[in-house]
Amino acid sequence: MTEKRQFRAIKGTRDILPPDSALWNWFERTAREVFETYGFAEIRLPIFEETEVFARAIGAETDVVGKEMFTFPDPSLLDDGRFVSGWQKLKELAIAYDPGRDTMTAEMREQILSQSRVWALAAHTSILWSLEDAVKNLSSLRPEATASVARAYIEHGMHTLPGNVKLYYAGPMFRRERPQKGRYRQFYQVGAEVLGHSDAPSIDAEVLEMLLVLFGRVGLTNTRLYVNSIGCKDCRPKYVELLRTELQKVKDELGPDSQRRIETNPLRVLDSKLPEEQPIIETLPRISDHLCADCREHFAKLKDELKLRGIAYEENWRLVRGLDYYTRTTFEVTAAGLGSQNAVCGGGRYDGLVELLGGPPTKGIGFAIGTDRAILSIQEGSNLPKLPGLAVYVAWMGAKTYPTAVAIARKLRECGLGVELPPEEMKFKKSLGLADKLGARYALIIGEDEVASGTYTLKRLADADQKKLNENDLLEYLESERRSG
Ligand code: AMP
Repeated sequence: MTEKRQFRAIKGTRDILPPDSALWNWFERTAREVFETYGFAEIRLPIFEETEVFARAIGAETDVVGKEMFTFPDPSLLDDGRFVSGWQKLKELAIAYDPGRDTMTAEMREQILSQSRVWALAAHTSILWSLEDAVKNLSSLRPEATASVARAYIEHGMHTLPGNVKLYYAGPMFRRERPQKGRYRQFYQVGAEVLGHSDAPSIDAEVLEMLLVLFGRVGLTNTRLYVNSIGCKDCRPKYVELLRTELQKVKDELGPDSQRRIETNPLRVLDSKLPEEQPIIETLPRISDHLCADCREHFAKLKDELKLRGIAYEENWRLVRGLDYYTRTTFEVTAAGLGSQNAVCGGGRYDGLVELLGGPPTKGIGFAIGTDRAILSIQEGSNLPKLPGLAVYVAWMGAKTYPTAVAIARKLRECGLGVELPPEEMKFKKSLGLADKLGARYALIIGEDEVASGTYTLKRLADADQKKLNENDLLEYLESERRSG
């Protein structure tokens, strides 16, 4: 007998079920609508890319690339017959294996072990390939989408397009983080990017305005916007060196993570949430005092532009963001009701990124909203939208009424109403009970008398108010009800 196993979604992943999925769709729909009013168009990206795209763009020393990516060698990319057939064999064995029947023979076990060894060696060493080939043949599930957008921008020669290229995306991202409330291994982002020749602070400000307009539209009002400038390729390295020197002086007072980061990525020390490190961090030099003249002016103009647009913000000199590609403007939005994982959006300017991936000199800015957290915060708040749901439950009784019920259900659906038509005849009481449980707003009662007279009973389930209407009046009434929401 096949072993009974209860399958569950893999740790850090989850199913988004109705009715929550309706809220998710509404959120993403609203984002699309708002972004399109600002001239953005959607880009649909692959979910995995060559690992090197992320390693180069985000930085090999970052947690996201160094620790959190789901990386796999892509067998279809390989010419090495030993590897492909070995991998194929391993897959066949795994699929055929049935733990309940324990069909695994000693021979199978041996084959699996030997194939796994080939697999592991191929993935982690240069035994089958040169190291260069190994890198090329590694793919990763995307931990974020900006690197992919930049890759696509270069691949499709978008720098020749007129004006700034404004793109948005929505979809799942993957990071192997420790799961907790608001933090998942498969999570979702909606993001937008502006790429082109200009780095005018007004672009940064417009992107922030668009973001906050969206948050306003979806009822995420209890938010805070933090902004910072982390300088450019001229002034930032000097500041980083200064920071490193100052951190060396206090090294013994820092925890192991921060101590390691002094060498690998000193800016990340500023991200630390450890209470005992806070007083030390407060004494460190601040980037705002070390920006070059151009960066200082850019940041000042950005703040003027935000004021012009009536956007409230707070400056946060410690907002460095975790990814290497940022330059100048960085920002983050926090929202209420999320506990420790309260960042609902992060973004910034990344002027060197396209060049880093082999493209022409290009300026860029963008953000990513964490959809999971945005939805959580909306659900915790008091601005939950009223989404349409099921409008009409067609309670038909008697086989003769069925053709009329089918025809009316179709007409109502053509008007854009959500309609449930029971597939089998039900007793009246049971039928209305189900209409209630399904949350229908109306029950449309179609019995033999109704069919004969051409007048139907429409019952509003919230207060049992009833109306008798002919087909035309019924369609008109329900349609106007739908339009008024
Ligand atoms: P980041 O670029 O890492 O700042 O990500 C942008 C936004 O994505 C964050 O502000 C979060 O809202 C969201 N996010 C990042 N990582 C996760 C995760 N593991 N689970 C859920 N949301 C995440």
